[in-house]
Amino acid sequence: MPGFELFGDAERKEVNDVLENGVLMRYGFDGMRNGHWKAKELEIALQKSFKTKYAQLVSSGTTAVTLALASAGVGAGDEVIMPTFTFVASFEAIMALGAIPVLVDIDETLTLSPKAVEAAITSKTRAVMVVQMCGSMGDMTALQKICHEHKLLLIEDACQAIGGTYNNKPLGSIGDLGCFSFDFVKTITCGEGGAVITNNEQYYTNCDHYSDHGHDHIGQDRGAETHPFLGYNYRISELHAAVGLAQIKRLPEFLYLQKKNYGMLREALSQIPEVVFRTVPEGGEESYAFLNFFLPDLETATQVAQEFKTSGIDGCFHYYNNNWHYIKKWDHLKELKSLFPISAEVRTGLEYLKTKEFLQSDHYIGRNLSCLIKLSWTEEEVKMRANKMVEVIKKVLNT
Ligand SMILES: *Cc1c(COP(=O)(O)O)cnc(C)c1O
Repeated sequence: MPGFELFGDAERKEVNDVLENGVLMRYGFDGMRNGHWKAKELEIALQKSFKTKYAQLVSSGTTAVTLALASAGVGAGDEVIMPTFTFVASFEAIMALGAIPVLVDIDETLTLSPKAVEAAITSKTRAVMVVQMCGSMGDMTALQKICHEHKLLLIEDACQAIGGTYNNKPLGSIGDLGCFSFDFVKTITCGEGGAVITNNEQYYTNCDHYSDHGHDHIGQDRGAETHPFLGYNYRISELHAAVGLAQIKRLPEFLYLQKKNYGMLREALSQIPEVVFRTVPEGGEESYAFLNFFLPDLETATQVAQEFKTSGIDGCFHYYNNNWHYIKKWDHLKELKSLFPISAEVRTGLEYLKTKEFLQSDHYIGRNLSCLIKLSWTEEEVKMRANKMVEVIKKVLNT
């Protein structure tokens, strides 16, 4: 997955271009920039790649998710349904707006279970946030249907699935708003960065203004611009955008390599009947950023993960006990450890987390291993890795 693996002349050229010209900010300084607009160029490239009308670059994937919610008016007291398996950014973004994260189970897709979503809807629910984890996606048809019936927003976090598709539509472009991260370890990187994409003009205008202190971006004098509403600073810099601009041009190459390496590993693991691959919904094609599979039980998965580590097979995650991605270790959320007071509404709204069990999520995450697919592996390295993985899994299964 990480695009940084293949950094080269293209990235250097774009960054030097910005440095030599000297304007590091994406807005204003029209007279000084001699036609250099890296952030704008990258936004246009994103619109084309992800087949949407509008794209707004921001400083991170976390700010992208926050902005997506804010631009559609999600705020104090609103409930947002999100999965138990995701990155901490999901609840951070929801809570930053004073809204309440409602965590629900995942299913064999490793993303939101539509049944669990439906069961969690209340009169306060405003949005459903599907997180396309580890290169694949949720059942978008089912989720769209639920959102349509209940008049809910569908927010799509495609930070880990850049390049995946569902019924030939790019992931990120299916929900009302889609979010990407271009942090250092994502398929395309800016160093730090993110984007919101949408076909809704009003949401886009809101994104454009909100991410820059509410500036209306009319005219050529920043100081004279008006502020139709309150905003914040989620801006990306020209330097970061320059790296992303070089990287997005290479996305087809990155996806080709991911698919090739993924295919070789998957074929090797297919020999083992006990290995069951994660379900990809009908009509979906993964981005191949990760190879995900289930082992028969928690014990086997724990042992295989351990043996992978001792045999030098890196990048395979058993998320069951992982701090970043699974609810089991989010004690700071369950205990609401905050530097500043949190509203009574959110505190009450999150009380359920102290006692709620997510047995269905445990069932899937406990047995799942998720292996990062690198771009820089040689064919020989992939073959050796595949053989080693098969050997380790067989050994653990037979003991
Ligand atoms: C990386 C990631 C984010 C946040 O992105 P940052 O750019 O690191 O803030 C959000 N959601 C998911 C699923 C991610 O993997």
